[in-house]
Amino acid sequence: MTTRVRFAPSPTGYLHVGGARTALFNWLYARHVGGKFLLRIEDTDKERSSEEHTRVILDGLTWLGLDWDEELVFQGARLARHQEVADRLLDAGNAYLDGGAIRLRVPAEEIAWDDAVHGRISFRGEDIKDFVVMRSDRTPLYNLAVVVDDLDMGITHVLRGDDHISNTPKQIALYRAMGAPLPVFAHVPMINGPDGKKLSKRHGATAVGDYQHMGGARAATRRS
Ligand code: GLU
Repeated sequence: MTTRVRFAPSPTGYLHVGGARTALFNWLYARHVGGKFLLRIEDTDKERSSEEHTRVILDGLTWLGLDWDEELVFQGARLARHQEVADRLLDAGNAYLDGGAIRLRVPAEEIAWDDAVHGRISFRGEDIKDFVVMRSDRTPLYNLAVVVDDLDMGITHVLRGDDHISNTPKQIALYRAMGAPLPVFAHVPMINGPDGKKLSKRHGATAVGDYQHMGGARAATRRS
């Protein structure tokens, strides 16, 4: 089976160096094993997403030489598919209506996976609780959209930041409810500043574009 990985940024801001590193690991892995590196723009949050941010992210990846395979996928364009899957979960009794929203039933059994970075990670189903996968306005929640898209895109390895570990048991509950095989999960640590806290603007530049401009400015100074 061909390895298929993806980078799935939300175009709600500039390309953070932490995101760029996640993209780099995905790209390196795909290129190393002769697999595919796909790019999915997670633009379901219409209020905060913009075409400008999408352009900046694509420019940053291109500047870094992280070329992607196949057509770019826009999550927002897949709404009908997300709704179809939510309805199917409802029809199968794996989810139920709650105030017009669709809520997944999470069985009270262990949810665990062998993380390729952390080793075994385990949660108790009781602690996950039934969660909403589609709002009453028929827009999907993040966990549903990600799982449906990863399945449809044939993603074999989900390689992303540690900040998503807490979403993974919910996503596994969705894979189980859909009767789908799990991808390999690999959660890479966040980038911290010298003080051990999550890298932020306090530590200096965090946007890939800032480094691009600094490099450009220095090159211009050298030339003059
Ligand atoms: N869109 C999510 C983010 O930017 C990533 C989703 C994922 O990698 O599963 O944090």
